[in-house]
Amino acid sequence: MRPISVYIHIPFCIKKCKYCDFVSFPIVKQDVAAYFDALIKAALPRAAKLLTSKHRIVETIYIGGGTPTAVPQAHLAELLTSSVNALPISRDVEVTVEMNPGTADASYISKILACGGRRISIGVQSFNDRSLRFLGRIHNARQARNCFENVRAAGCRNINIDLIYGTPGESLDDVMHSVDTAISLAPEHISVYGLSIPEGTALHKRLRAGEFTLPSPDQQRKVYETIRDTLRAAGYIQYEVSNYAKPGLECRHNLNYWRRGEYIGLGCAASSYLDGVRSRNVNSVAEYVERMANGASVVCQSERLSKEERVEEAVMLGLRLREGISLSQLRRDEGIRLLQARRNQIQRLATAKLVNIENDFLRLTDDGVLVADEVIAWLT
Ligand code: SF4
Repeated sequence: MRPISVYIHIPFCIKKCKYCDFVSFPIVKQDVAAYFDALIKAALPRAAKLLTSKHRIVETIYIGGGTPTAVPQAHLAELLTSSVNALPISRDVEVTVEMNPGTADASYISKILACGGRRISIGVQSFNDRSLRFLGRIHNARQARNCFENVRAAGCRNINIDLIYGTPGESLDDVMHSVDTAISLAPEHISVYGLSIPEGTALHKRLRAGEFTLPSPDQQRKVYETIRDTLRAAGYIQYEVSNYAKPGLECRHNLNYWRRGEYIGLGCAASSYLDGVRSRNVNSVAEYVERMANGASVVCQSERLSKEERVEEAVMLGLRLREGISLSQLRRDEGIRLLQARRNQIQRLATAKLVNIENDFLRLTDDGVLVADEVIAWLT
């Protein structure tokens, strides 16, 4: 049996955050019921049949969004129970549910855990009310803290806190207040991403109109280094450019993506990577529901990656991991000897102390992480 991950997309939110370009829609009751019906009665049995026929075993399930906890508790509970019952799962399957503060009370959280949720990822983003308002989040810092405390009190022993830095007007002290507050709550995992403002979002329009400016690359670099050093000093291992965990509590689902493992995506806009083919489902909730009801395919795009694209992807994803790229694995998977194929580039990067090679792994140094995009571009 080969391992695989399953992602289930819940595209509903209470309201759109100002920086968000994910496939998520303001919640409408009727759509939610039909969507969960499609997932539970059609998508899960279809996935179970496919995975069994291909001798795959599910090592991780990730219910993300959107805001999975924006929907009524009964829907999410049934989805969780059906997932763990229908899919061919391993005994120590990691089941993560994303949650946003202000959407689930203590009884909702207990229900998630009772139905099979084992890891909860909380979209805190900041413990500063001003930043939360700027980002258009529905919650404040007090609600974020309460949410964490409720999840812990319900018995969850594997909690992630998501944070964002780089919000305009936020000082280094403001950011570190968020990071220190997160550390004081002692989650098992912390993700810290720089704010990105994609085109088409409400904040992008304001940025273009000159209403605010973003922090400079130098400021961002200083903040990044301070966060990294503080989290390391607090006992968190940086295992990916933006992800930190207590030893042994890395997110296995995301590790599988970064190591180029296989995964299938259920729900609208979800992606899959199976048998060397990458595919993506339709974005529209209504279209997804209709196609599922008719027994039709929900895939709207699919491609088989060429060898060159696979090697590029391996470099791009592998270098984000602090463990780096396994050179022998790459040779086995793709028949490429990277040290020879990119000899000049790697030598120059090593001389500049941006990468190093140790025990079969090519990895970024701390300085290399700060210019990761440039290093990756140089190697691909
Ligand atoms: S909660 Fe997440 S998915 Fe929903 S609008 Fe905000 S950023 Fe987007």
